[in-house]
Amino acid sequence: MVVVGSANADLVVTVARRPSAGETVLGDDVTTIPGGKGANQAVAAGRLGASVALLGAVGADQYGELLRESLRSANVDTGLLRTADRPTGNAFITLTPDGENTIVVSPGANASVLPADVAAASSEVAAAKVVVLSLEIPLETVRHAVEAASSAGVRVLLNLSPVASLDEETLGRLDPLVVNEHEAAWLLTARDSAQEDSAQDSAQEDSAQDSAQEDSAQDSAQEDSAREVSAQDSADAARYVEIARRLRALGPRSVVVTLGAKGAVTSDENGTTVIAAPEVRAVDSTGAGDAFAGALAVGLAADRPLADAAAFAARVAATAVTRVGAQPSYPTSNEVIS
Ligand code: ADP
Repeated sequence: MVVVGSANADLVVTVARRPSAGETVLGDDVTTIPGGKGANQAVAAGRLGASVALLGAVGADQYGELLRESLRSANVDTGLLRTADRPTGNAFITLTPDGENTIVVSPGANASVLPADVAAASSEVAAAKVVVLSLEIPLETVRHAVEAASSAGVRVLLNLSPVASLDEETLGRLDPLVVNEHEAAWLLTARDSAQEDSAQDSAQEDSAQDSAQEDSAQDSAQEDSAREVSAQDSADAARYVEIARRLRALGPRSVVVTLGAKGAVTSDENGTTVIAAPEVRAVDSTGAGDAFAGALAVGLAADRPLADAAAFAARVAATAVTRVGAQPSYPTSNEVIS
């Protein structure tokens, strides 16, 4: 499989309280952790024993070395990981005792992953069983990779994170589109407002009235989606099924919605399946979505049906949340809980 995506060094510091503008506070020692969605997904897949390469870029610096080392130790092929003349991407993460965090991401070398990089790796992309994408690299590169892979008959898994809008053609090539609850709500709200916009355009109403109506339509669409995704118990399975169905109606060939401790829901031509998350003592859910996406791709590359692959991914991600960190928490096949 080929993962086309980001690699970041996460610089994490705990502070007693967040500084306000112009203020300086002292924090604990910095921990430096290999991260970035692409690298996380590739490490998750590599640790499970899959054959996987990461197509991306890091800088010629200590963080680039840290990432290469972490990838290599998970048996990820780094032959498509370019050394760019920009610094390795960083996420500056401030943790406070209230459990909240603030994050500033500097994409650095990730911003230099261009369509030309994908074109240069066209034979590796075409030979892959699955291509995995997320959105911490330029959107035009993502679009190009989706097109290149799907035209070559390669299955494309895209994790819409961080959330952004995709054109219909790109959406229609995804198999599956993978989103968490927030991203699902965002997509469905964006779709509802777009429909509202076009209905209003054709009515050619007074523009002041239009924008008032648009605002209230957006508000109610947001409320609808928020209501749908905040469902708490199993009686809400029907609601998850409905979310997956509505997402599929946006065009992707299949959809997976991850639901944190509530599991996931899949939808494809074989139907819609709600997958319960194994019950575990969660200590750190950082990178759970990336573990899920990487493991899902491993299952799909082994020709498992989508719902089976997602059930496997849920076991892998549940194992990951019982341990601290993102990449360091990802299990080998033997360690995956049953
Ligand atoms: P993201 O990290 O992208 O927000 P989620 O929070 O939905 O994604 O988590 C991804 C997957 O990780 C879930 O679908 C689930 O399988 C697993 N997971 C997350 N939190 C837990 C938990 N507390 N217990 C068991 N599994 C979990």
